Amino acid sequence: MSSKSTETEDFIKASPLRSAQETHTKENTNQKIYTDWYSQLRHKITTIQKLSKFINLSTEEQRGIIHSKFPFAVNTYLLEHMDVNSEHCPIRKQFIPTIGEIKKLPEELLEEGRTCDVPSSTSYGLKPGRSILRHYLDTVIILVTNNCASYCRYCAVRNFVGQHEWNITHGEFGLVLKYLKEHNEVRQVVLSGGDPLVLSDEKLEFLLSHINKIKNIDLVRIETRIPVILPQRITPKLCEVLSKYQPVFIDVTINHTKEMTQAATYACNLLLSYGIPLVSTTILLKNINDKVQILADLLYSLVKSRIKPYRLIQPEIVEGTSHFRPTIVSGLRLIRQLRSCITSFAIPEYIVNTREGTEIIVAPESVVSRTKNSVMLKDIFGHVHIYPETK
Ligand code: SF4
Repeated sequence: MSSKSTETEDFIKASPLRSAQETHTKENTNQKIYTDWYSQLRHKITTIQKLSKFINLSTEEQRGIIHSKFPFAVNTYLLEHMDVNSEHCPIRKQFIPTIGEIKKLPEELLEEGRTCDVPSSTSYGLKPGRSILRHYLDTVIILVTNNCASYCRYCAVRNFVGQHEWNITHGEFGLVLKYLKEHNEVRQVVLSGGDPLVLSDEKLEFLLSHINKIKNIDLVRIETRIPVILPQRITPKLCEVLSKYQPVFIDVTINHTKEMTQAATYACNLLLSYGIPLVSTTILLKNINDKVQILADLLYSLVKSRIKPYRLIQPEIVEGTSHFRPTIVSGLRLIRQLRSCITSFAIPEYIVNTREGTEIIVAPESVVSRTKNSVMLKDIFGHVHIYPETK
């Protein structure tokens, strides 16, 4: 046996996932649900009755769960890491609906009958099928599933996730491959969803091995929340698959230091031990992480875990999420404050995704003008986009 495999085995034996699972099984008769990531995925908590057995729900939360029109589901791993007695817990606020979701602002409607969070190839004027969300510069974003390990309440694609389960079919993927081969300018493929890492190892290997054969593709990035919301899914077998088709970057969404549990840190270390690079995306969320100290602590916990902070994203204008949206002006202020107190190495780019599918790195010079209700932002081509500010 090579020293690499001995090291990996020792690493796995010391896994906090294993010890957490083993300890828990002694106390919990429902062993299968806690220990097996696939069972956790299949047995998410979806009703107020079951949820009340884990946490003391506030009236705001109860009304949110009853009245929200968007799917609700949370797994037992996350429930274990929520503060059962405080609705201000930063993990709880991201996954338990509140009455704030019922509010629908005029700017959250793009046009009659369609909210801006419905991803479809037609809405971006793209073909083929529903699997390509966006083609921007040299990057194509492919949707591979609409399933997630739990549903984030601020989700930009909340009309798409958690509905009737859909995973990309061979036929749909065949059309995507054809598109990639026909577009030589595409160099980066982003696997997105939903959460691509809920797919089986076999399905992921199938997707990656085919993308890997396309000459013009230099980089694959997988957007995922899995390492911090279902770290049990990061298994040695999954890491082996991912490491076979390098360069595959794992772009993990982490919004608060509380998400960097021992198990999550272990999962990230396991990926790194297989040579899989990690970058982070953070969604800037009002009353969750929009304070300079909270962000600074999060960014340092990321670099300490060898995760390079990549993006800080302004939430998209999506129905029922206004309570999560800080203003761009406050986002710019936060970036300025961060620059004055932590190393630039740990500071991500502040990004706005526009309704037209453009990604803008927001810096003071990209703001063309401001009114009380909106900010006009210039993209790299000089095109101006309006971002309505939520008061
Ligand atoms: S994991 Fe991503 S796609 Fe899934 S609900 Fe959360 S933000 Fe949306």
